[in-house]
Amino acid sequence: MHKHHRALGVAPNKAVSVLEIAKARPVQPVTLIRPHAARRAARFFSEKFPGRSLYAVKANPSPALLETLWEGGITHYDVASIAEVRLVARTLPDAVLCFMHPVKAEEAIREAYVTHGVRTFSLDSQEELDKIVRATDGAADLTLCVRLRVSSDHSKLSLASKFGVDLADAAPLLMAARQVADALGICFHVGSQAMSPQAYSDAMARVRAAIVSAAVTVDVIDVGGGFPSSYPGMEPPPLERYFRTIHEAFESLPVSYSAELWCEPGRALSAEYASLLVRVERRRGDELYINDGAYGALFDAAHIGWRFPVSLLREPDSHARSIGFSFYGPTCDDMDRMAGPFELPADTAVGDFIEIGMLGAYGCAMRTAFNGFTSDETVEVEDEPMTSLYVEQAEPAHVAGRVIKL
Ligand SMILES: *Cc1c(COP(=O)(O)O)cnc(C)c1O
Repeated sequence: MHKHHRALGVAPNKAVSVLEIAKARPVQPVTLIRPHAARRAARFFSEKFPGRSLYAVKANPSPALLETLWEGGITHYDVASIAEVRLVARTLPDAVLCFMHPVKAEEAIREAYVTHGVRTFSLDSQEELDKIVRATDGAADLTLCVRLRVSSDHSKLSLASKFGVDLADAAPLLMAARQVADALGICFHVGSQAMSPQAYSDAMARVRAAIVSAAVTVDVIDVGGGFPSSYPGMEPPPLERYFRTIHEAFESLPVSYSAELWCEPGRALSAEYASLLVRVERRRGDELYINDGAYGALFDAAHIGWRFPVSLLREPDSHARSIGFSFYGPTCDDMDRMAGPFELPADTAVGDFIEIGMLGAYGCAMRTAFNGFTSDETVEVEDEPMTSLYVEQAEPAHVAGRVIKL
């Protein structure tokens, strides 16, 4: 970290603001990290979710973030590949790992079980159940979570088609898993960025029907991820409402008295952790050519039209009115375009720096080196995130560049 500070001409060992970094005029895009925001999100889930919170590592696998979440009380991690298993085992040796991808390589299951002590696995088919039994030599200490297909109707990103057993086919699979599991779970995913708590009550109604049809004892209910963050045009209700809805639905399920409730947030634990500082290299009308894009940290902005908060970092401030811009990324590819609209002062020009917020989840984690454009420059900043679900009366967007004291 300090190395990076020096590289940018910013004094090490000193709390730095986003504006100070912009004033150092970095040529490459800079990832701005906010450990305090991730720690706050972790504490929120560990204290307020009425059960156990697993961090879904795919949202952002940065080791520094994993350590920060651990400090905030997150002890369980949802991993989906053998590389994620190895990474978390190496970074947090005492963490409990749950292998929640329903389609795994048999070699990955075996290594996870034998080498890394993984005992929890998800599945959505008899083939996968057979695979788990073979790879663990018929182990008697497994927690097996059957992934149920649920609707993604309330979510911005569907996860309804690829994984999950249909309710109509769930009973035989639950009964078969019950035969070999030490603990039997049911898990689901309502889709990412679920904008209403009803997504979870609807899914829990399906869980109830699955339990009734299979008549099995269930020890774990895992409501998955989908907890939202705040983005322009996507301001969700408070997370406490989701927690209350889930708790009520869980309490009314026909499960054993000692059954556990789990969740697997990815986005909600990591979105506020990072933002990105980019430079404008060209302006053409209301299109800005910036030095990061679809193959960098802005995949979702390009491919699913996700709108992230933006802020112009200029001193003195621009007083021009805001207009909507679209962005082009640095590669030669026409698809490297982020439609936005991104609201910025109308006089935004070449050489200006822009902070793009809320990129801690599915942002920096998806960066490639396509066409030679990539950057690993990372600096810790003291500013609050551009929006927050965890700060009471958080200022809306367009506050970056100033340190908000709360
Ligand atoms: C991606 C994923 C998550 C995290 O989802 P978010 O919407 O980021 O909270 C959790 N569980 C599973 C199985 C996933 O695939």
